[in-house]
Amino acid sequence: MAKIQMKTPIVEMDGDEMTRVLWQMIKDLLITPYIDLKTEYYDLGLPNRDATDDQVTLDAAKATERLGVAVKCATITPNAARVKEYNLKEMWKSPNGTIRAYLDGTVFRAPILAEGIRPFIPTWTKPITIARHAYGDIYKNTESFVPQGGKAELVVTDAEGNETRQLIHDFKKSAGVVQGVHNLDASIESFARCCFSFALDTKQDVWFAAKDTISKTYDHRFKDIFAEVFEKDYKADFEKAGISYNYTLIDDVVARAVRSDGGFIWACKNYDGDVMSDMVATAYGSLGMMTSVLVSPNNVYEFEAAHGTVTRHYYKYRNGESTSTNSIATLFAWTGALKKRAELDELSDLYDFAARLEKAALDTIASGIMTGDLARLSTLDNVQTVDSEGFLRAIAARL
Ligand code: NAP
Ligand code: MG
Repeated sequence: MAKIQMKTPIVEMDGDEMTRVLWQMIKDLLITPYIDLKTEYYDLGLPNRDATDDQVTLDAAKATERLGVAVKCATITPNAARVKEYNLKEMWKSPNGTIRAYLDGTVFRAPILAEGIRPFIPTWTKPITIARHAYGDIYKNTESFVPQGGKAELVVTDAEGNETRQLIHDFKKSAGVVQGVHNLDASIESFARCCFSFALDTKQDVWFAAKDTISKTYDHRFKDIFAEVFEKDYKADFEKAGISYNYTLIDDVVARAVRSDGGFIWACKNYDGDVMSDMVATAYGSLGMMTSVLVSPNNVYEFEAAHGTVTRHYYKYRNGESTSTNSIATLFAWTGALKKRAELDELSDLYDFAARLEKAALDTIASGIMTGDLARLSTLDNVQTVDSEGFLRAIAARL
């Protein structure tokens, strides 16, 4: 067959360890034999981030803004141990943090469901997509211990220097703790826009929840901004698309989610997203099946797997031992990026190929051929556990 042609390149961000190994295998076995692949390549592997003083990460973020679609491999976020292991000049920041800050995006995480792999909540037959607002609240807080006899006040000084003072608590009877948090209208609005555009893109309802009954100014602000943005810019398009936006209380949405069959976007405040994304990911099964896409308010997309570089498997691989690492989330990052590029460039054969590749991968699992993480969860009785490369070869054979 003639190779499928592309128009605009995709930004390709290479990464570290086991996922870097899978990255190359996916390209060699499943992509470049069929597609005349056009990418703008950035090596975000830790050695190259160190060599470029992390400039390569910012360059990749800028390229993503320019080209509109990126695919990223998992990368190491260095800690003290990594600084030693890689003999780094500095403890470079998380690449995902740098890219997200540059693009001002929201991360949407969704599981891939496969026949024969049963979620821990069996009614979840469709994916639940978690969108986490990644700014402010307790993640940018100021906190203090207050000794007994102390007093804590909230003081807001306006541009003219006028002070408003409110008592938080008088710690007469006991010592205690106090915490100051904030958020920004602009950030909340941008989060709302990301959620509503992603909902239109994927034809799913949006659920957003806070605790406005208790937090009448802070959480209420989130509720109001979501409502305003929706009314003004998205309501008509939602009606046309046959999807809905629903606001409720956080405890109510938790109960609804458990009773639901999935298939919606759950927009979460920062802390709720932190907690709920781990709950949802675990309930659906393996981290190897969790995808992640960063969407900016001006519709730039960066696709990746939600998991990390799978270090434990990499050390085995490096010793020449066999590994059974699940490449589905990384493969779906590639197909997600190819599909998005195909949509934007109106390339139906590219879109069709990416869809067939996804189907070949899911059919491979349904036929009983899978990696160890899935074999442990499978309800099939003909399970054949294969190694990292064997799994990709089985997908290639089916494709
Ligand atoms: P991890 O790479 O996600 O792996 C944690 C464990 O989850 C693995 O040891 C493995 O369990 C299981 N797992 C994850 N992905 C799997 C897959 N595709 N197939 C099979 N099993 C899978 O998290 P980590 O070990 O905490 O972090 C490793 C490195 O990744 C760190 O340096 C961290 O900075 C980085 N990281 C990067 C990103 C990113 O780039 N987005 C995200 C998170 C972490 P078993 O060992 O039980 O098989
Ligand atoms: Mg968490």
